Amino acid sequence: MSQSSNELTFINGKIFTSNPEQPYASAMVVRNGRIAWIGEEEDLKKIEGTCVDLNGKRVLPGLIDAHLHPLYLAGAAKQIACTQPLIHSISDLQEQIRLVRASQSQDSWIQGWGYDEGKLLEGRAPTRRDLDQAAANVPVVITRTCAHIISVNSKALELAGITKDTPDPQGGKIDRDENGEPTGILRENAKDLVNQVMPETTLEDDAALLAELSPVLLSHGITAITELMGRTKPNDYLEMYQLATKKGLKQRSVLYYLWEDLKEHPVIEQQKMARENQIHIGGIKLFSDGSVSGQTAWVNPPFLGEEENYGIQMTTREELSAAAEAAKKHNIQLVIHAMGEQAIDLIVDTFYGQKGWLTDAPSIRMEHAAMPAPGTLKRAAETGIAFVSQPIFLFAEIETYLHNLGAERTKQTYPFKAMLEAGIKVAFSSDAPATAWADPVNPFVGIKSAVTRLAHDGTDTGKTQRVDVETAIKLYTRAAQEITRIPNVGQLKPGFHADFIVLDLDILVINPEQIDQIQVVETYMAGNLVYKFDSIEKLVVES
Ligand SMILES: [Zn+2]
Repeated sequence: MSQSSNELTFINGKIFTSNPEQPYASAMVVRNGRIAWIGEEEDLKKIEGTCVDLNGKRVLPGLIDAHLHPLYLAGAAKQIACTQPLIHSISDLQEQIRLVRASQSQDSWIQGWGYDEGKLLEGRAPTRRDLDQAAANVPVVITRTCAHIISVNSKALELAGITKDTPDPQGGKIDRDENGEPTGILRENAKDLVNQVMPETTLEDDAALLAELSPVLLSHGITAITELMGRTKPNDYLEMYQLATKKGLKQRSVLYYLWEDLKEHPVIEQQKMARENQIHIGGIKLFSDGSVSGQTAWVNPPFLGEEENYGIQMTTREELSAAAEAAKKHNIQLVIHAMGEQAIDLIVDTFYGQKGWLTDAPSIRMEHAAMPAPGTLKRAAETGIAFVSQPIFLFAEIETYLHNLGAERTKQTYPFKAMLEAGIKVAFSSDAPATAWADPVNPFVGIKSAVTRLAHDGTDTGKTQRVDVETAIKLYTRAAQEITRIPNVGQLKPGFHADFIVLDLDILVINPEQIDQIQVVETYMAGNLVYKFDSIEKLVVES
């Protein structure tokens, strides 16, 4: 694309802007990377500089993934994907472990991600014995789809020093058999016992992984991202992401530091939080509970058929208040993971009636907000708490939702329509790779799920909570901007960055059933073409 003139004119587009004051347009003038003018082609005065024909295709603002784990997603590409279509059973998993064992050095750890016992033929999680059968002498760590639970072999337990006599750590659980021996399944904080002894990767390695992920995200139309597991130690994720931009990471990125790393000394340098920078810190993250699919969400009533299993409470009112104090001091957000009714209520009860500290955005983000109890939505709205949810969960993990909650309670989860009607600011996101789907970051899978309220197998996931397609797009763009606070993105309007995507199918007119088939054909950032779908390459791959 010619940069001789800094002016670009895009014509002949079916532009959906996500700007409620001017939702549709057909032409756009971009100057120095920002939209200078947008409107109908016939109102365009004269074309200067380069003119780009959008070929009558549907154009949307660049998508914002408001809850993502980019480093984990990038790393997952190097691990065994324990999901369909590769793995259907524990014996398939053992086969893959043996293959990896044979292909790598004698002492390397073997890692996998994405198993979901509800989708495995055996209907249970892999245990240390299963993993030992595949590889006994090297440590094996298989992370569950929710990322809150791991299955490890005996060697990994040994290296972590976990025995019959190891007590459950606070906020975690070591599963045990009838003799009290660890089964290899470690929940929530118990998984840190193994994580602590795993080989550390260098900042350089991780930055390179992130740079490799960038074009994958662009191919899905994602131009702005979040990192919900930002660490300050051993490596500072801010430095890692900054280094990644030098290696090719293009997305505008906001990172959230884990409270766990900060609580001893909750001080963040001012310049790290400067939002005009491509990489910046946007908040402090902590966990109120675990996951619905892993039965660690802090629920009430208990999980189906488990009279006493209410999940795991992972924080307290005092800790939430301490983290909020730190966020307030830095003028950034407090970001709290909460899925079950009790976890959600703990947050709403703790902050109800208090005034937020940010004047331009929600001070508190609640992540997932899967199972708000009746009555909670109104109170959450009054408290100004934003919800960042993942419609792909119900679509991809329906088997475990049905198993853990039953059909009726499942339909009441993620009540998007009710959330919006209550006046809550909601954003959509993927949480990739923490979901059991082979292409977990694909935004169009989530949008389809929100619009149809049907799971991948056709199960009704609560049709009364459907949202229309324009709303779903807004929750992935404009609303995601309002909640992430990444400046000047999420809408196509004058003064905003010219970050936009061109689709092969018109998402506003096709049958919603087809939404997940949509292919992003071009992605632009600051008016520059940064990704183009190569149909020939695709054909070669498929044949
Ligand atoms: Zn997450």
